[in-house]
Amino acid sequence: MPAFFIMPEIKKSKKPWIPKKKKTNKSWSFDPRYHTMQWRKYRQSFLMDNPLCMECKRVGKINAAMVVDHIKPLSQDDSDHNFWNKENHQALCKRCNNRKARTDKLRTNGK
Ligand SMILES: [Zn+2]
Repeated sequence: MPAFFIMPEIKKSKKPWIPKKKKTNKSWSFDPRYHTMQWRKYRQSFLMDNPLCMECKRVGKINAAMVVDHIKPLSQDDSDHNFWNKENHQALCKRCNNRKARTDKLRTNGK
């Protein structure tokens, strides 16, 4: 895999003057599993295998993927099997992931 596809991670600048918000939002996107070393390693190797955003690719655009997305969004009580199921993973760029996260949320809220 050519190395130029791998983009360096953009570090978010910390803003110490902004008080930390309490994480009252129990949305799946705050799943603690995303913050484990295991996931980070998995994500890294997944993006090595899938360096391009799949959504962009579908519409003929080439964008470097930055995140591993769960195709079928996780619900709060989802098992580890669903979380780690490779069949349910796709590589997305930040923009596509944000857009998908919004529609997923709408879908989950609009029961
Ligand atoms: Zn994309």
